[in-house]
Parts: sequence; C-alpha cells; structure tokens
Amino acid sequence: MNSTSKVMPTYGRVEISFEKGEGPYLFDGEDNRYLDFCTGIATASLGHAHPHLVQALTEQAGKVWHTSNLYRIPGQEKLAERLVENSFADLVFFCNSGAEASESCIKVARKYHSANGHPERYRIITINGAFHGRTLGTLAAGGKPEHLDGFGPVVEGFDHVPAGNIDAMKAAVGPETAAIFVEAVQGEGGVNVMDPNYLKSIRKLCDDEGILLLMDEVQTGMGRTGTLFAYEWEGVSPDVMGLAKALGNGMPIGACLATREAAKGMTPGTHGSTYGGNPLAVAAANAVLDVMLEDGFFDRVKQITGYLNQKLSGVIDAHPDVIESVRGHGLLIGLKCKVANLELVDALRAEGVLTVGAADNIVRLIPPLIITEAHVDEAMAALERACQALESAS
Ligand SMILES: *Cc1c(COP(=O)(O)O)cnc(C)c1O
Repeated sequence: MNSTSKVMPTYGRVEISFEKGEGPYLFDGEDNRYLDFCTGIATASLGHAHPHLVQALTEQAGKVWHTSNLYRIPGQEKLAERLVENSFADLVFFCNSGAEASESCIKVARKYHSANGHPERYRIITINGAFHGRTLGTLAAGGKPEHLDGFGPVVEGFDHVPAGNIDAMKAAVGPETAAIFVEAVQGEGGVNVMDPNYLKSIRKLCDDEGILLLMDEVQTGMGRTGTLFAYEWEGVSPDVMGLAKALGNGMPIGACLATREAAKGMTPGTHGSTYGGNPLAVAAANAVLDVMLEDGFFDRVKQITGYLNQKLSGVIDAHPDVIESVRGHGLLIGLKCKVANLELVDALRAEGVLTVGAADNIVRLIPPLIITEAHVDEAMAALERACQALESAS
C-alpha cells in the first residue's frame, strides 16, 4: 500500500479503488468493470446501488439519522418484529458489526446462567478454525494464535475442539460450560460445512446438559446459503444467533437474536450500544428484508446456485492442476486450490472478477444473490481464462 497513506497499515490491500457500483458490478476510476464475486466479504448481497435500498436510505437520511437508544426507534421495532417472525427467535438486540453480534451472543449466554443462579457456568466451547470477530473476547473465542499474538492476556473462558467430532465436544463440556458456539459453515476458516448430523448431535448435547447453542450466522445469514438463515436447512434451531454482514447490505448493522428464555438475563442496563440499530441502519436492513422476503426470492437464489455449481464443475474438471475441489453451501462457495489461493484471486481479478481467499488455501466465490445466468457465464469464462493463465505460467 502507498507508504504515504495515514491509514494504519493493518490490511494487505490491493491497489484498486472503486468509484461506483451497479448490481453485481464495481467500476474503478478508469471505468474498468469488475464482476463482484466478493461482495465486500458476503455483505453487499443484493448488489451495489440497489434502487430500493438507495431509496430507503436516502429517504431516511433526509429525516433523522440517529437518536440513541434513549428513545423508541420505530424502524428498529419493525426490524426486530420481522426478524423474529422469520426465525426461531423472540427478541433481538442491535449492534454495529459481526464482532459485536458475537460478543452479544457470548454475553447473553453467560448472563443466562448467572440469572439462573449459576454464574460459574461461563465457559464457551468453540470449534477449531472458527472466526467470530476481532474484539478481545471474540478473538479468544476464535483462538487463532496469529490473531491473538501481542495483544496481552487472552480473555478467559473459551475451550476449543476439533470440528466434526461429537465425542471431543462431549468431553469438553463440564460444570462450567455455558454454551457451544458454532458457524454452520465456517467462512474465514475455509468454507468448512458442518455436517447436519454433527449439528443435530450438538443440539441434543446442549439440551441434555442445559447449555445454550449459539450460532454465528454473521456470514451465512441473510440468504447466503439459499435460505434466510443457514440453520434452516440443517433442521437445527439455535438459542442465540449473531447476524451482521449482509443484514444492512453494507450499512453497518449487527444483531443478536435470542429466544425469550435464553435472553432472560438481558434486563435494562445490562447491555447497550450508542449506534446500535439507529434509524439509518435499520432503514437499510428493513429495505434488505423487503427484497429478500418477496415471494420467490429464495427459489431464484437456489436456481442460480444450481446453475453456478453445474457450470463450475465443468471448469474445475478441466483444470485439476489449479483447483482440487469445490465445497460450500448456497452462494458461499470455496474452491480448494492446488496453486496458492491468492494467485488464483489475482488471476481472476486480472480477468475482471473479484473474489477473496480463506484459510486452508481456499478461494471464496461469494456473489450477490441477485446474479443471473449471464453473470455466472461471465464469471465462469473468466475462471476458465484465469486457470489457463496459471497453467501456462507454471
Ligand atoms: C465477518 C465475521 C465476523 C466479524 O464481523 P465484523 O463485522 O468484521 O466484526 C464474525 N463472525 C463471522 C462468522 C464472520 O464471517
């Protein structure tokens, strides 16, 4: 990155910036067009400059942006009502990011046991490869050594187990366990899809032990896997769930959804956020729901997912030296690479398609949910060319 930039250099950035977006496309200053199969990391799920979202946000921007949670916010109550109506939950807390949503899930779980007279039950079990955010608490939950290095004592109270092993999970549960915290599909961890039977066993374990099941749907939620929430296709219902990313299509907003029972400790004064669920943020999220809850929206997502997967398998079969396999759920797709994953990300960008890496040498394809067959064809042609370029370079 430009060494004169005064932005703290915490990211490895690509030397491109975008001036505008339209549907699944982004345009840089030189009018180069990119097909956005990254969506700002699973966030701009309805594409860029969606007319309904632009209208909702600009209308609200001319009225009132922010009042704090000292007062009632009708748009927030409406959004909570709709999230509840379309999920397992009874109550919603609003915040501003995925990390805060995860923090809220952790706090709800600890407070639940405290309210039940068991403050000693505070430990949370998470799964190796998990990513729950970058605050001190959520870093401890994720447990990734590179993320924790140099940031002082690790927040206490998290136990980590390998994915897919229910015996290891059972063994990790003790008298201090408050909850198990899982992603249905680990996004940052490498598009690792959890086996539905594993998740069902975890649900049963939680019920047997009187502990809560927390699901981090920050990346998988809001339609990414072809249903509004990923837990729907697993047939497993959590007690508490975190949302962010696509909830505001890029307008920063996060949410923690919970059953009334799980949230029993969350009484006035126990948690808060100045911005959380402010009128501007909830206007964006309500507009997102207007679109996603329309009849047939998810039928269309499932249909385009099928088309994409079919096209993709053809390209992958033709290039076994570049891509080893494909995994994922819905439009959260991971390409397991034979080459270095970032080489494929670069080669795809050179062909006009934006993607993003993940752990385990994965390239993630995370297109907007509104793509058409023509966009898929364009992306697959670019993937074909990128694979050829990598093959002739080696
Ligand atoms: C992105 C992500 C987070 C963190 O979200 P931020 O908005 O960056 O704080 C947490 N959990 C999951 C599963 C994520 O994908």
